[in-house]
Amino acid sequence: MISSQLYADCASWIELSRQSFKNNVSLYKNAIPKDTLLGCVLKGNAYGHGFYECLTLLYAEVDILFLISPVDAYQVRDYEKQQGFASKRIVVLGAISAHEMVDCAKKNIETVISFEQAPENLLILQQFARSHPGFKPMSVHIHIDTGLGREGFTLGSLAEKIQFLKQTPGLFHVQGVMTHFSNVEDVTEQDYAYEQVKNLQSAYDIIKQELNLSYDPEKHVAQSASSLILPDSGCHIARVGISLYGLWPSKETKISAKVVRSELPKLTPVLSWRCQSQSVKVITEGSFIGYGCTYRADRDLKVALLPVGYFDGYPRVFSNKSFVLVNGKRCEILGRVMMNHIIVDVTEAAGDQSTVVATLIGKDGRETISAEMCASWADTINYEIVTRIGAHLKRVIVE
Ligand SMILES: *Cc1c(COP(=O)(O)O)cnc(C)c1O
Repeated sequence: MISSQLYADCASWIELSRQSFKNNVSLYKNAIPKDTLLGCVLKGNAYGHGFYECLTLLYAEVDILFLISPVDAYQVRDYEKQQGFASKRIVVLGAISAHEMVDCAKKNIETVISFEQAPENLLILQQFARSHPGFKPMSVHIHIDTGLGREGFTLGSLAEKIQFLKQTPGLFHVQGVMTHFSNVEDVTEQDYAYEQVKNLQSAYDIIKQELNLSYDPEKHVAQSASSLILPDSGCHIARVGISLYGLWPSKETKISAKVVRSELPKLTPVLSWRCQSQSVKVITEGSFIGYGCTYRADRDLKVALLPVGYFDGYPRVFSNKSFVLVNGKRCEILGRVMMNHIIVDVTEAAGDQSTVVATLIGKDGRETISAEMCASWADTINYEIVTRIGAHLKRVIVE
């Protein structure tokens, strides 16, 4: 039985399992080569799990933090100050202005350069560097578009487009060269991925030569899927997102991992989503439930009103489609998902009309609702299901 005592003040809340995080981290530490650094991706409010809570849970476990926005990076630096920690490596993966780049330089935060910098932006950076004696070059990772068609320099124009790095000596330090896989999760044959790896190597060679680098910058490409199924993609850092939260990138990845690693790695989902009923009551045969009268009771039913809806990230397409767990039993959603409410059938699950605790994602007794089940109800991927869980919901860490 799930206890609601602890969170009686919340309508619905997210539980994060410390042990599950630990299991997933150690699984990845064992999966990647010994000299590869383990990076954790905390974008999208830590894939909807809650940025701050996940930061506290993962901070000590990983070598590098990958974030999407500089604002998140500043928050990490504040956290380190509060805790008295030395600063960890942080890489901001996302869009960044010249002013933000200056702020990142001040806070020793690494950034990604994915296109030719405009002269006016370079000027901002140069002015900052000139007015700060002892300025250390900004640590950047050059992003190469090796086949995703998203951010990054394309191979054909790379040499020409990175000339600005040569023309601004002392401003940038090329810390790394990176790319992002396009379809590792979608296939079980990885020809395209190997082509991307080959392109990354060509880009790497061009960069070293064009910029006359006397050292070897880091090279990185791996995400959750490739870290498990392409262990020979030959890189210095793994940037692991979804699977540190215990979720598989896709069915295909799961199949490939079983083949490549000879037994299926055991990822443990970190997140559960629970909700306490607002009321439980009996409605009589023939009554309608919810907007649009899309559900009509064909017998007397005991129903629970749950204070959770599409505002909280519970998809409206779940209307008349999904179920939640109460006392270890499946309880169907009756009618439409509303902004702040759903109504579920607890006729079999609840003994009387007292408050119940429903599990929207997670385990209750012998039943489990996985993010993958939710994704199939919503015709999407587990990434979107968890990432859309409202940032306003309380996150509690459980052991
Ligand atoms: C999201 C992202 C990752 C992590 O991907 P997962 O599939 O969640 O492991 C790694 N690198 C980049 C550039 C990303 O955008």
